[in-house]
Amino acid sequence: MSTIAITGATGALGTHVVEALLDRGIAAGDIVALARNTMKAAPLAEKGVTVRAFDYDAPDASALAGVDRLLLISGNEFGKRVAQHTAVIDAAKEAGVALVAYTSVDSPAEPLSSSTNPVAPEHAGTEEYLAASGVDHVLLRNGWYNENYLGELQTAAQSGGVLSSAGDGTVASASRRDYAEAAAAVLTADAPKPLYRLAGDVASSTADRAAALTEVLGRPISVNQVTPEQQNEILTGAGLDAGTAGFAVAVDQAVARGELAGSGNDLSTLIGRPTTPLIDTLRAAV
Ligand code: NDP
Repeated sequence: MSTIAITGATGALGTHVVEALLDRGIAAGDIVALARNTMKAAPLAEKGVTVRAFDYDAPDASALAGVDRLLLISGNEFGKRVAQHTAVIDAAKEAGVALVAYTSVDSPAEPLSSSTNPVAPEHAGTEEYLAASGVDHVLLRNGWYNENYLGELQTAAQSGGVLSSAGDGTVASASRRDYAEAAAAVLTADAPKPLYRLAGDVASSTADRAAALTEVLGRPISVNQVTPEQQNEILTGAGLDAGTAGFAVAVDQAVARGELAGSGNDLSTLIGRPTTPLIDTLRAAV
């Protein structure tokens, strides 16, 4: 039996991946949960999963001893991620890991470095390093999570509206659980493909989201379509720091250009069912 390790196993996606591997019948003893804070991984240890300390800032190859397949879940510290991911890839190479799967970002742009999605550059940098590393690897180009809109759900409940500069642009989101099940399917596949384009089956516009929010909240939710400049002003006026506001505007501009509309249907194929509709994730949160 081969051993599968997951970085970021204490995060939302990582936790779902471990659960999805167990659901697929992988023995807990064949799963290694890598965590920078091993205390946080106690619930996984209770299930019999092996927990090892692993920090992207100083990854120790010995934590990967005996690992055949590694899921590298991208980190969440913007600006540091290429250095962190390349260090993890180096450690995987040193440890002799046979296959590294990396959670990148979905985009119709080829090469990924030409994408205007603000998260794309660090993913493209990591993909390029993987390609040059000589390590066998799989790219899981994940689209947006449905859960990204749970903050909007709260704001809409308070304000009665959603703010957007994305125009008619659409987002083919799916639940984290969907992406996690797909990752588990790839990690346990006999012969994974080199690249998976993972996105929700249905792409929703801001107007579609407002309609879903209206249904879930039981009150009319309107769309406030503004220019990128106005959106930036409104967000900073509401107290967001310049970086966070700028990121939100850049994402909407990428959406307007079709960057997150979904570039393939590998997700529903891998999980063997339709992806989770956005409205289901919203409904589960109220
Ligand atoms: P989380 O923030 O819930 O989890 C991130 C995981 O990475 C956590 O386990 C965290 O550890 C771990 N981590 C962060 N920094 C380090 C480090 N230096 N060393 C070791 N581990 C580290 O994110 P999600 O699970 O929701 O998403 C996974 C990744 O997907 C994100 O990190 C981000 O790159 C990307 N993402 C994608 C989105 C999309 O819509 N496609 C949306 C948001 C993020 P700890 O538990 O100790 O904090």
